[in-house]
Amino acid sequence: MTFRWTLRAQMLGWVTLCVGTMALIFAGLIWREQRSFLAMREGGDALVLDVVRDGLQQRGSALANQLANAVANPLYFLDLERIGEYARNTNQQADVEYVLVADAQGRIVHDGSRDIARFGESLPELVPVDGAPAEALRGGIEARWADGLLHLSAPVRLGEQRVGWVRLGLSMDEGARAAQVWSRTVETRLAETRAAHVRWLLGGLALIAGFGLVGVYSLRRNVLKPIRSLAEAALAVEGGRYAEARNLTARDDEIGDLTKVFSRMAESVVRHERDIRRIAYTDPLTGLGNRLALSESLESRLLTLQASSGELALMFIDLDDIKRVNDTLGHHVGDELLVDVAARIRSACAEEGIDGAELARFGGDEFVVLFPEADVRQRAESLAGRILAAISAPLTLQDRDLVVSGSIGITVFPDDAASAAQMVKNADMAMYQAKAAGKGCFRFYSLALDEEVERRVRLEHDLRGAWERGEMSLAFQPIFDLTDGRAVGAEALLRWTHPELGLVPPSIFIGIAEDSGQVEVIGHRVLEEAMRAAVRWPVPNGTRAPFVAINVSPRQLSLGNLPEAVEGALQRTGLDPNRLHLELTETAILRDEAQATAAFTRLRALGVGVWLDDFGTGFSGLSHLRRVPVDGVKIDRSFITDLLRDPNDLALTTGVIAMAHSLGVTVVAEGIENEGQHDLLRERGCPLGQGFYLGRPLPAEDVGRLFG
Ligand code: C2E
Ligand code: MG
Ligand code: MG
Repeated sequence: MTFRWTLRAQMLGWVTLCVGTMALIFAGLIWREQRSFLAMREGGDALVLDVVRDGLQQRGSALANQLANAVANPLYFLDLERIGEYARNTNQQADVEYVLVADAQGRIVHDGSRDIARFGESLPELVPVDGAPAEALRGGIEARWADGLLHLSAPVRLGEQRVGWVRLGLSMDEGARAAQVWSRTVETRLAETRAAHVRWLLGGLALIAGFGLVGVYSLRRNVLKPIRSLAEAALAVEGGRYAEARNLTARDDEIGDLTKVFSRMAESVVRHERDIRRIAYTDPLTGLGNRLALSESLESRLLTLQASSGELALMFIDLDDIKRVNDTLGHHVGDELLVDVAARIRSACAEEGIDGAELARFGGDEFVVLFPEADVRQRAESLAGRILAAISAPLTLQDRDLVVSGSIGITVFPDDAASAAQMVKNADMAMYQAKAAGKGCFRFYSLALDEEVERRVRLEHDLRGAWERGEMSLAFQPIFDLTDGRAVGAEALLRWTHPELGLVPPSIFIGIAEDSGQVEVIGHRVLEEAMRAAVRWPVPNGTRAPFVAINVSPRQLSLGNLPEAVEGALQRTGLDPNRLHLELTETAILRDEAQATAAFTRLRALGVGVWLDDFGTGFSGLSHLRRVPVDGVKIDRSFITDLLRDPNDLALTTGVIAMAHSLGVTVVAEGIENEGQHDLLRERGCPLGQGFYLGRPLPAEDVGRLFG
């Protein structure tokens, strides 16, 4: 862990510095006091000794004077009795060690003892100590310290005459003892005072340290802790754990104000986040949850269910042909339809009584219902039926009566998949199956469907950009005049050579292109490419120029701009409109007869022929042919195949040929595979024919040679 110069560290540093400095100052003070105490004691001892000396000297002087006065007369008369009495009296005084009285010649007359042992001895000299002269005191008294005694010598006078000397020796012992007692007393007093000082100082230091600690504690509690919890709350907000940021308590001080401001800020972040989440997780059109919301909910539900072993159904609902509504009635109608359908699905769920159902809009026209239920398959089946019925109930949008249908794919957890991604994929595949099965129905996911759908999904993916990658080409199957056997034109057939799968039949990829909306782009390219090829075909003198027949998907027709697109392609390629036939299936017309009629009329006005392809497979009766302005019909291969065996097929074919004659439209027989079919058709008056027996689909250049 790296050290950070935090507030706490700074604060502790300062407090330690303050207390340390104070402790140093106090220690200095105590040391100085100790020093001055020692100095004072030494000085005091000397002073006391001086005082004691002075006192002794004064007393001694007084005693010496007294004695000198007292013994003046007795000494003059040498009254030893009286002298001895005075000497003894003096000797009895405290501190007096010895008393000597001498005559004027310095001979000892009395020493205070009974037998006057030192009588006649010479008065000893006051020996100077260290050469210092004797101290001369008032009244001619001389004083000198020696051998621990104060020796005093005073002259005894009688009038002006000196009659002798008195000598006293005083001991310092008593004074020294007193000085010692005094000094001890002083020492104890001083020690007591010092101890008191130290106590005060230590007390003060403790108080300062205490205040420091209280300060640190209060700073920690009132500043650092709130700041730390603010920082933690900020981290919580950053991490999206808003609940943790909510329980901040604010005191009534500056930090409290800061906390309040922070709380308000966190609240507003929470609000914004909620708004953003709402925007991010809601489909703005229908107000349902969107793909993101569903994915998250699915993930979390699966997690819960994995622990509790419950079942869950995921239902994909896709509207069939919403593109047609968008293309023909406009996107705003499509949007209205989606909102309406969302409401229908919602009420279907409510009617079914599934409480935990979650509804979301997954994409353009895809809705998803997610629900956990005990008997989930049975409930899903019943709900799917109800939803399909609800969707396909007629509705009126913008004064237009509309009927839409939906296809539903259902997958069940844990039977089909364990992960959210797999479930979504399964439901999508099951939905594809429902579409492939004719739309307007529901399918449960099953493993067997997987591969087929997966292949379809892959092809849909690979189909994008196939043209740009040069995988697409056109083959032309010649169409013959059955009366003279001449090739009079050719049908353009799209070929897709998949880089891995090889040749993919149009019966497969055209359906995929239709469902995924790619057919619009591809269709335009086919139009132009086929026309460009036809322009290059040779036209021998005296013959009619060969025509090109181009297949047009129902979706291209429902887009509404087919005549314009064809006209544009004609202009760009320079093909004579009379040489162009468009082949449209019956289903294209069935979807919207009015629109088909309008488009056909415009195309025919351009000079372009319109043929009905796969004729006989869709219409319930031939009468419809009267209402739609077409130039020809192509009898479906299925009728030709059994022409020789099945009298019904022969009857229908013969009927179509007859009616076409009466309506003035031409007839092309598709899929002629043998001579018998060919001859029979020719015999029945079928004008044009196409089939492997006559000619297989060929590259553009090869088919061109047939016309030369
Ligand atoms: P279609 O328009 O009915 O085309 C005729 C189909 O019958 C072609 O199949 C052709 O090869 C096949 N055929 C012709 N004579 C015989 C025969 O004697 N015996 C047999 N068994 N078959 C014969 P293809 O090329 O597989 O096309 C299938 C369908 O794909 C076409 O049916 C057409 O509906 C669609 N299609 C092909 N090209 C295009 C295109 O460019 N645009 C659109 N929208 N659809 C296309
Ligand atoms: Mg065709
Ligand atoms: Mg056909």
